[in-house]
Amino acid sequence: MSKQSVMLKLSAPVEAPKPLEQLTETEIERKAVIGKITTYTLKNLTDYFLVNGFQWLLPVALSPSTDPLWPDPGASIEKRIEVDIYGRTVRTTASMIIHKLIAASTAYPKLFILSPNVRIEKAERACTGKHVYEFTQLDFEARNATSRDIIRLVSDAVCNLVASVKRDMKDELTYLGRYDALKVPKMPFKICDKQELEAEYGAEWENCVAMKNGDPVWITNIPREFYDYEDFATGKWDNYDLFMPQYGEVLSGAKREWEYDKILKKIERDKINKSNYSLVLKLAKDGRLKPTAGAGIGIERIVAWLTGVKHIAETQPFPRVPGTVCDL
Ligand code: ATP
Ligand code: ASP
Ligand code: MG
Repeated sequence: MSKQSVMLKLSAPVEAPKPLEQLTETEIERKAVIGKITTYTLKNLTDYFLVNGFQWLLPVALSPSTDPLWPDPGASIEKRIEVDIYGRTVRTTASMIIHKLIAASTAYPKLFILSPNVRIEKAERACTGKHVYEFTQLDFEARNATSRDIIRLVSDAVCNLVASVKRDMKDELTYLGRYDALKVPKMPFKICDKQELEAEYGAEWENCVAMKNGDPVWITNIPREFYDYEDFATGKWDNYDLFMPQYGEVLSGAKREWEYDKILKKIERDKINKSNYSLVLKLAKDGRLKPTAGAGIGIERIVAWLTGVKHIAETQPFPRVPGTVCDL
């Protein structure tokens, strides 16, 4: 496939789905089938993390400290939601990364959270088919884990999920026209360096990776937020994204920074408001932040890939399409 047709195929505008009350009988039937696969996916993934010794934490919605989502090559946030309560400014959760770092360093060495994330994406992202303005991550973190540990764990979880869903949800996948195209991936998945992909494919490297590979691919060495580990000597980042075939990114994660001097330097370098991160800085300074690694799986993204829907909001009972606020 030429580079241009690859680009067109994945970046063609996708029509946003209708809300529940406007669906026809046939569309309601389809929505219900997607809902069954979402339920199955949630059970399968949470069971997987529980069996592997992770504790299940409940999420928070409001906090002074949340993910800066900056700098990130893919960032497109139109507005940040802040509100004053009890004399302090809190923000809606963009991701629970800061909470994960502190929880995994203290009482919960292996944890996961089904964490609702609010990210008011720019309205033009309505038609990417990949973005909604509220979504849920299965966000997990493990003390003393390495990138290699997390890559192995997630690769195994994904293979297990696809094999199980094909075994137990054959009728549903067939109804959606997805059963034959959805293949159980083979481990180990390929690992590619982002800088090398950019050199080979240019700005469209993400679409090229998604379209050219029949199995999931790990992308590493991605310059982004301060909490991902950067080797100052080599300039390499010890982080990773997981790309699904014919789809794209469903997970981001990293080994983390835990040393005060490095965290401070990176926050200052990124021109981020230090006072929003005063607790994580204090814990790092006191030696109470530990080396951890983890990642977050976008639940709607992985279900969108499993079901083969065109727009990610089709996986949501109450679609959160950028630029549109529905009645529910
Ligand atoms: P993208 O580049 O695709 O916009 P991102 O890299 O900015 O995403 P992350 O900050 O890495 O997103 O978020 C972690 C995970 O959460 C992503 O891998 C994806 O699965 C999911 N996710 C992020 N943004 C969205 C969104 N707007 N809608 C749905 N899922 C999302
Ligand atoms: N969940 C991601 C991680 O663990 C952070 C994010 O949401 O970008 O790295
Ligand atoms: Mg990402």
